[in-house]
Amino acid sequence: MINVRIPTGRFAPTPSGYMHAGNILCALIAYLSVKSKGGRFLVRIEDLDAPRCPRSCSLEILNVLDALGLKSDAPTVFQSDRADAYKIAESALGERAKLYPCFCTRAELHAAHAPRLTDGGTVYSGACKDLTAQQAAELSATRKPCVRIEVPDRTIAFVDGLYGEYSQNLADECGDFIIKRSDGIYAYQLAVVADDGESGVTEVVRGADLLSSTPRQIFLQRLLDLPVPEYYHIPLVCDADGRKLSKSQNDSAERLLNEFDAETVLGGLACSAGIIPVLRPTSLDELTQKFDWKNVVRDRIVLPEKFSAAL
Ligand code: GLU
Repeated sequence: MINVRIPTGRFAPTPSGYMHAGNILCALIAYLSVKSKGGRFLVRIEDLDAPRCPRSCSLEILNVLDALGLKSDAPTVFQSDRADAYKIAESALGERAKLYPCFCTRAELHAAHAPRLTDGGTVYSGACKDLTAQQAAELSATRKPCVRIEVPDRTIAFVDGLYGEYSQNLADECGDFIIKRSDGIYAYQLAVVADDGESGVTEVVRGADLLSSTPRQIFLQRLLDLPVPEYYHIPLVCDADGRKLSKSQNDSAERLLNEFDAETVLGGLACSAGIIPVLRPTSLDELTQKFDWKNVVRDRIVLPEKFSAAL
């Protein structure tokens, strides 16, 4: 029997701040890519770290998506509701790989000699990997550990739809990584893999800052027997003056929508990303028909000048 998977894409924002035009552009491209294949578009709110993710930001994101017609084809998933699913994934990983408690402090992890990762973190030295049960019990008396997964000395490679070939040796370039934080919150890497797997996601569109996370996610997908989706990491989005947008209230996409109608915003964003050649108001349907990955800008995306005042 041939198992045909329905093309399924998703937009998975972290509501730790207001949604800016770069976030909407990511949602728009995720939507257009999957809809142009006749597939399903899903929205998932990545509010794992509940104290850092106020409800007002989630609502703002959902309002903005709604105003632009970027509707989810299934009920919105909130990661803050899914700890049980992550626990199941953690147990499954525990059967197939070594998971161990790590008591290292931030200062120890960021010691001057620790090799740096491209995403700003450090390569984990494996300091807690071989603690005995007794050592772990003693350390537990004073400190709560996080949980790490041991990675193999193996290179994980994939072809990104925009960046092309990308590979990473997990042991050298990342080290054993955290799947559950010391406060009990599951780590992004585990949650995203469990959620994408359960929702049948076939393509992931997200910012280029997450390119270097992808090998870790592929490693977890393989351990959990989940299919590896296609990946498209879209470049940094900045305003006409070259300023990178931030999740502050000033850059809130709601301001853009107060100033311009939905088709003007959609057309402006689509044109800046190369999806349409001429800047003009454009409907979502027309953009879906025109969408082709080969036109999408591969370096910096610069928003139209006329949006500047409203960013
Ligand atoms: N939640 C992440 C963010 O807002 C995106 C995660 C993903 O798309 O995998 O940057």
